[in-house]
Amino acid sequence: MLLGALEAGGTKMVCAVGKEDGTIVERISIPTETPEITMPKLIAFFKQFELAALGIGTFGPADLNPQSKTYGFITTTPKLAWKNYDIMGEFKKALGIPVGFDTDVNAACLGEAAFGCMQDVNNGIYITIGTGVGVGVMVEKQLLHGMLHPEGGHILLAKNPSDTYNGCCPYHDSCLEGLAAGPAIEGRYGKKAFELTDIPEVWELEAEYIAKALVNYILILSPERIVLGGGVMHQEHLFPLIRKKTLALLNGYVNTKQLADIDTYIVPPSLNDNQGILGCLKLALNAL
Ligand code: ADP
Ligand code: ZN
Repeated sequence: MLLGALEAGGTKMVCAVGKEDGTIVERISIPTETPEITMPKLIAFFKQFELAALGIGTFGPADLNPQSKTYGFITTTPKLAWKNYDIMGEFKKALGIPVGFDTDVNAACLGEAAFGCMQDVNNGIYITIGTGVGVGVMVEKQLLHGMLHPEGGHILLAKNPSDTYNGCCPYHDSCLEGLAAGPAIEGRYGKKAFELTDIPEVWELEAEYIAKALVNYILILSPERIVLGGGVMHQEHLFPLIRKKTLALLNGYVNTKQLADIDTYIVPPSLNDNQGILGCLKLALNAL
């Protein structure tokens, strides 16, 4: 059986065809332009195969509520050409197969849960720190949607008193995304994040904000594992800093075997940046 997977991003659309066991047989990447230009290319790619179902993990916000009239739409996105766009409906119409639908970060969370480093836990979170910050939440093996979907990138944080940067989120003065996403690092220091690798204070501050956020997620969601992905986390030296600061901020208040083994608790993705597309494959399987 062949399944389609679409990781719909603000800059590129990754399309893949694979099997139930997570093998990918074909994959392409198409730049994200307007729906008029991009959608026919995506549909033409998927039409080459006899697919049983398609799974879409999309940038958002998106409507994930099957009871809603706008289920399957990308909704209030700042990418205006895609605002209120019925992406799921268009694929259903064009391909005539079941379509699974979720956010990109929930898809990455599901990819790790189905094929990667969260197979052995029932509760976990996947956080991406890239152009934005997103948090996918798995509760008792189910992705959490709630009234919309979690928007954990925008939790409010206490700023470090010496940080004079105003944050780059247009909505909040001091949210995680505004203080710690890639563009925030670049806005604060006036250089690309990867050019700052050798400046310790950059990563001390970055790790402080990420650790503050992790403490909040740990206290509220009680995850059994935390996966940290996205472009910024390619700075691997962040991991030990984040682990240390998270434990320091928790200050012994939460005392579990998982936290005692912090190196296997706060971890990088395990699927070579395929976690998103593999999660979409699982969304397709679940849609059947
Ligand atoms: P997106 O979030 O757009 O899907 P990424 O997860 O690759 O894509 O995130 C892009 C952001 O991550 C950019 O702001 C970039 O500066 C930052 N980034 C990418 N690679 C690195 C790196 N090696 N070190 C630090 N930051 C990086
Ligand atoms: Zn914000």
